[in-house]
Amino acid sequence: MDPQAILRDVFGFDVFRPGQEEIVRAVAAGENTLAIMPTGGGKSLCFQLPALLRDGVTVVISPLIALMRDQVRGLREAGVAAGALTSGDTEEEREAVWHALEQRRLKLLYMAPERLASAGAQGMLRRIGVGLIAVDEAHCVSQWGHDFRPDYLRIGALREALGVPLAAFTATADAETREEIVQKLFAGVRPREFLRGFDRPNIHLAFAVKDQPRRQILAFAAGRKGQSGIVYCGTRAKTESLAAALAQEGHPACCYHGGMESEARREVERRFQQEDGLIVCATVAFGMGVDKPDIRWVAHADLPKSIEAYYQEIGRAGRDGAAAETLTLFGPEDIRFRRTQVDEGLAPPERKAADHGRLNALLGLAEALDCRRATLLGYFGEAVETCGNCDLCDRPPEVFDATTPVRMALSAALRTGESFGAGHLIDIVMGNATDKVTQRGHDSLPTFGVGKEWSKAEWQAVFRQMMGRDLMRPDPERHGALRMTEAARPILRGEESVRLRRDTIRAAKSERQVKT
Ligand code: ADP
Ligand code: ZN
Repeated sequence: MDPQAILRDVFGFDVFRPGQEEIVRAVAAGENTLAIMPTGGGKSLCFQLPALLRDGVTVVISPLIALMRDQVRGLREAGVAAGALTSGDTEEEREAVWHALEQRRLKLLYMAPERLASAGAQGMLRRIGVGLIAVDEAHCVSQWGHDFRPDYLRIGALREALGVPLAAFTATADAETREEIVQKLFAGVRPREFLRGFDRPNIHLAFAVKDQPRRQILAFAAGRKGQSGIVYCGTRAKTESLAAALAQEGHPACCYHGGMESEARREVERRFQQEDGLIVCATVAFGMGVDKPDIRWVAHADLPKSIEAYYQEIGRAGRDGAAAETLTLFGPEDIRFRRTQVDEGLAPPERKAADHGRLNALLGLAEALDCRRATLLGYFGEAVETCGNCDLCDRPPEVFDATTPVRMALSAALRTGESFGAGHLIDIVMGNATDKVTQRGHDSLPTFGVGKEWSKAEWQAVFRQMMGRDLMRPDPERHGALRMTEAARPILRGEESVRLRRDTIRAAKSERQVKT
């Protein structure tokens, strides 16, 4: 089976996080590995997925019982046969796990390190056909660290006794700890090491609110004539129309999407690889096979699906290490589209909640108040100082206390039963007595006209940023209606304040003044 398919079908993720794919492939191929990944970076997947690709059971040694139980529960929910042997088990639980092991039904067996001390456990592991040992929090083997677990010292002997590959994971990257892990777990034979930060410092990060998006993309491309670039689009139709528009401006450009004949797609891949300065307008179908080191820019004509997808797509730029640029466009309709896509999908509720979370992370990045790289890498667990290579470092945005307009907007939504979209709510707070407003008696609400001093464009920016912060969400049951989220309650109650970006509001305002 293909790791990509398992990632999607079993784990419910569309793309690998930074670093995961290489590690998964090495571990699945039976290489001894040591992977250093920041906390929250997604280590568990790097042994859970290979466990499904390898014969026999994967033994996972982890020091945290609660974490083991969580993982076993998660795996079972995903339909993976997993069990745990810890000191906290009841006799019954233990029996059930042993039974499943004897029948060779388990793919993953989580074990607390102290279980390795028993002779019975060692013998059992020899009998049941272990295919891989995975060691979580591998720095616990280090006597000099804070988390030393004497039982971790037994793992090296176990590996030799079973003669199977071992994959060790830790977030602790210092060279001494690493060396000790290699000595104790791998008897000094160097495993393949994965220690790559997630940062791609040569890639400039930028987002912009959509404002005649075609013009924005054309302007971005115009400044980079002759350079190879990719424009990711939300729909097949857009890949075609944008490619035509770029060609009209004199750029060599073509489109790429899953609806094209495979022959035509291969031709685009070949041209992109060989020619200099071709622009490909593509759906996410373009990328898997692309390994061109000198892609100088990546633009998103529409907001990607998640922060992981964003990272992967922009990461195709500048593999050669030379400067590369990115631009991601987004607007309220993108937010609505992505939310609806999650809500209307077939995933179970927990997965939908997780997908909303990943979308929130991307929206948080889009509406970030300071350094984008710090925000992005922070999500993946890696800490960086402000980077000096993103639009917000170039021009720090002006922020202001927007608690008052946000509360006005929330209260307008609540007083109208959370049944209306942004347009109608804006009419209410601005005091516009439209037919829809008067017919429903919304002109007699206390919130009617409370926000007069703000322009429509300013209100639109406020609503968009509120959606971006997940203070309001489209109601999956009622088309276009906005509902308040839990996150907004403390603001409405006056317990929390909100800061929003002024510059996007200003931009919206000046745009309006030019037009009117
Ligand atoms: P750690 O590295 O701290 O062990 P975890 O393995 O617990 O991190 O993963 C952290 C979070 O990232 C989890 O919520 C997990 O579901 C999520 N995650 C892992 N891999 C991916 C992926 N490829 N796409 C999206 N989310 C992912
Ligand atoms: Zn920055």
